[in-house]
Amino acid sequence: MKRLPFVVLILILSLTACSLATRKPEQPSTQPPTLAELERMTARFAPTRLEVNLSRLSTGDRKALAKLIEAAHVFDDIFLTQVWSGNHALLTKLKEDKTPLGRARLHYFWINKGPWSELDENAAFLSDVPAKKLAGANFYPEDMSKEEFEAWVKTLPEENQEAVRGFFTVIRRAPAGKLSAVPYSQEYADQLLRAAALLREAAALTENPSLKKFLTLRAEAFLSNDYYASDLAWMDLDAPLDITIGPYETYNDEILGYKAAFEAYINLRDDAETAKLKVFATHLQEIENHLPIEPQYRNPKLGALAPIRVVNEVFSAGDGNHGVQTAAYNLPNDERVVQEKGSKRVMLRNMQQAKFGSVLIPISQWVLAKEAQAEVNFDSFFTHILAHELTHGIGPQRIRVGERETSARQELKELYGTIEEAKADSTGLFMLAYLMDHGKYPGLRQQDVEAAKRRLYTTFLASSFRSLRFGINEAHGRGMALQVNYLLDKGAFTLQPDGTFGVDFAVMDAAVRDLTRDLLMLEARGDYAGAKRMLDQLATLRPEVKGALAKLKDIPTDIEPIFVTANELAPPAAGLALAPSP
Ligand code: ZN
Repeated sequence: MKRLPFVVLILILSLTACSLATRKPEQPSTQPPTLAELERMTARFAPTRLEVNLSRLSTGDRKALAKLIEAAHVFDDIFLTQVWSGNHALLTKLKEDKTPLGRARLHYFWINKGPWSELDENAAFLSDVPAKKLAGANFYPEDMSKEEFEAWVKTLPEENQEAVRGFFTVIRRAPAGKLSAVPYSQEYADQLLRAAALLREAAALTENPSLKKFLTLRAEAFLSNDYYASDLAWMDLDAPLDITIGPYETYNDEILGYKAAFEAYINLRDDAETAKLKVFATHLQEIENHLPIEPQYRNPKLGALAPIRVVNEVFSAGDGNHGVQTAAYNLPNDERVVQEKGSKRVMLRNMQQAKFGSVLIPISQWVLAKEAQAEVNFDSFFTHILAHELTHGIGPQRIRVGERETSARQELKELYGTIEEAKADSTGLFMLAYLMDHGKYPGLRQQDVEAAKRRLYTTFLASSFRSLRFGINEAHGRGMALQVNYLLDKGAFTLQPDGTFGVDFAVMDAAVRDLTRDLLMLEARGDYAGAKRMLDQLATLRPEVKGALAKLKDIPTDIEPIFVTANELAPPAAGLALAPSP
């Protein structure tokens, strides 16, 4: 799939790696979980209130927001259908069961948007449903194989093949056995008609021209099944209400990765963070010019940055709200739009904050020395995520090896992802320390620099355990193990006699600089053998780290969002699916 590596990457970066952490199902598949077992499974998602301050919204936007939340609820409805044909009937049945076990089943169903537990390799937690989530979800006939699909597509005229393989059709089988493609606008006609009407109402209420345009075109797309023009309008969207609504990601189609699931993110733009991001971005060339590598490896003229938006989530629905919560996304997926306008990264700040409070703070209480715990703070955490994203754009990329023009990615091959993730973490720290030291960090007085660095480095130490918790089988975990061991070996991270960790601030700046240099030089030289050596030595879980990780097993994996602001503005209609409030 086109975007999988990037999305997996930001999801993990943003505390959502948990879906990759596969636990064994907690009971044999023949017996559905008992009430106690179900409660334990549910407790892996800490209920966390998501509130957003609406005071800066205009009256028109506030009314539009209520309409958009209502439209998003429709997408929960469509998404349930897309996941499984039996979902709605099952949900109706679950709602009737008022016993404690029935309530727990309904609650966990709603978290997963189906009868399969995402944290347990999608194993069923109810009886009388398929033992595993279906690979083709409800996008294809349940009895269709990939081979049958491919063979069928070959028989079609070329102009029809595109729609059949496209994002926005489902494949159905006629009683005689023949396959056919049905456009979403037809398959989900009732719901999309309703969503389109709500989007038009919202478009009439908002004063913002770019939002008006996007909503109007999106409403048309729901009915015409042609999303191109509205995807372009989404790239131009610049409004206090930052809305993403439509069929987007294809992860639920595990047969072919073609079919898009409906989702909605109803967000408010975060103007303060967006301004901070702008300041960082204006200093990026200066950071590049001061990277701790020889000048010949620096890039004298950086290219344009992909746009990044920082927002706060009021409500999410459908594919945007099940299992482990999305903390950032990168859209659109339509390559024609990406060619023309690039893509946009949206970072959900309050969602990151919710995860930080419910997951990272408890982690820090186990793994950090007592005096270090007070230094862990969300602002440092989120700022480092922004710096990580920005520094993916600096450092050696196009390189020269001997006479050859090549790229760091090509030369480091399968090791590139791990080295590049570690580089973005480390260079992100380097960048923030540089800005602090040079009086260029927004709103920071020189006398507060030392304290700000203490918070930055300690928060990074705590968050490294959050990444390591998901193992070292993928780029982020491996890259983090490399960094932690490097910094331990330099004495910058320290191990206390009681098994907790701390930071030696006297050596941390220099150690980060060294680490940044070593990683950048692997990329600058396209040094595959060097990268392999470094990973073999350092990308391991040492006993002291394993010991710390073992203490974290009862800490929640992720959060279950309670949409406080959204529920006040637009309570879900009685007919729509609604989980019991925890
Ligand atoms: Zn990254």
